[in-house]
Amino acid sequence: MSESFLGREVMDKEHIPYGRQTIARSDIDAVVSALKSPLITQGDLVPEFEKVIRVYCESKFAVAMNSATSALHAACLALDVGDGDLVWTTPISFVASANCALYCRAEVDFVDVDKSTGNMCPEKLKAKLEQASVTNRLPKVVIVVHFSGYPCALAQIKDLAIKYQFRIIEDASHALGARFGRSPIGSCRYSDITVFSFHPVKMITTGEGGAALTNDSEIAARLKSLRSHGIERSNFEDSSPGSWYYEMRVLGFNYRMTEFQAALGISQMTRLDEFLDQRKKIADRYDRFFSSAELLAHPLSRENTCQSSFHLYVVQLPDRSVRSSVFELLRANNIGVQIHYIPIHTHPYFRKLGFATGSFPNAEEFYNRVISLPIYPGLTEDDQCRVLDLVTRALA
Ligand SMILES: *Cc1c(COP(=O)(O)O)cnc(C)c1O
Repeated sequence: MSESFLGREVMDKEHIPYGRQTIARSDIDAVVSALKSPLITQGDLVPEFEKVIRVYCESKFAVAMNSATSALHAACLALDVGDGDLVWTTPISFVASANCALYCRAEVDFVDVDKSTGNMCPEKLKAKLEQASVTNRLPKVVIVVHFSGYPCALAQIKDLAIKYQFRIIEDASHALGARFGRSPIGSCRYSDITVFSFHPVKMITTGEGGAALTNDSEIAARLKSLRSHGIERSNFEDSSPGSWYYEMRVLGFNYRMTEFQAALGISQMTRLDEFLDQRKKIADRYDRFFSSAELLAHPLSRENTCQSSFHLYVVQLPDRSVRSSVFELLRANNIGVQIHYIPIHTHPYFRKLGFATGSFPNAEEFYNRVISLPIYPGLTEDDQCRVLDLVTRALA
């Protein structure tokens, strides 16, 4: 994995990863300048980065943190997820989408996916909620994921949230720059909190980093407090003995982002639209190839009402053995294809919690048939041809 994140100069020329960062001279200059300033953490650049993000996403508040995993944990706590609460998410995601609830000692369950998109299936969610309302086991929070950057059925899920009184966290780690209808992902129009990741394979990077966005001032204050040890520097409960005084009011963490990471984030955000444009061009080329070639390979389905950010370009193959042969041939030729994702409930840790293989059949079938092809700004047409030649060879 680690070779995917090295700079191009030091990388084997032939190696094409599935995703990677795009770093320009201006990014490096911004980081160097931040490192030369008096404050390399807790200065003005983190709030500036937060402003850039919330303006882009049309939300009221953004709280930057040291990872999306931290932001998901803080988001669960900000919504009062605790001992014995139920949190539902999708099995087709990175484990962090479920772990954040386990950190809060909540009980996690999954809702099966739509096989054509890999996103949580709203009909399955509806059926599961109907059943849960009979047994009095309704979730407090549902964490949805915009798999590959393509928005899930937010409007339908929001309607269900109103009916069954649960809160929504969007794990939008894949989806900075995506749109649901006219709303940017991150606007929180259909959710309480939206989380982004700035890991190098994501849409923009800060090295490690994440952010939680919301339109609720109380939730925003909680997120900020949780990010920094639960310490408050105003509105004290006790009377202040002097200007050195601060109070720890809740059990928080150190989930802060540094100034030089924020500097990188601000600089990257100036090129986000360009990055999205390049990802779309690459996806269009893949789309054209797979619609014209007589191959048993199909891209995930997408509708015009939503705009994907194309974090991943996922192709579905007829079955597990065809998928394996495509995977092995591409890997043998130095193409860093990946499988997104091993269904969360099938990991040993989750099996020990009581989940069994077979319980979310759509997710399991999806997992067996998909492969993620390289997509990132800077992937050339030649690179793409090399990838597609190998796919064609593997399927011949
Ligand atoms: C990358 C990712 C995360 C974790 O992000 P970090 O910033 O690495 O903590 C969480 N959920 C999903 C869906 C992801 O893709």
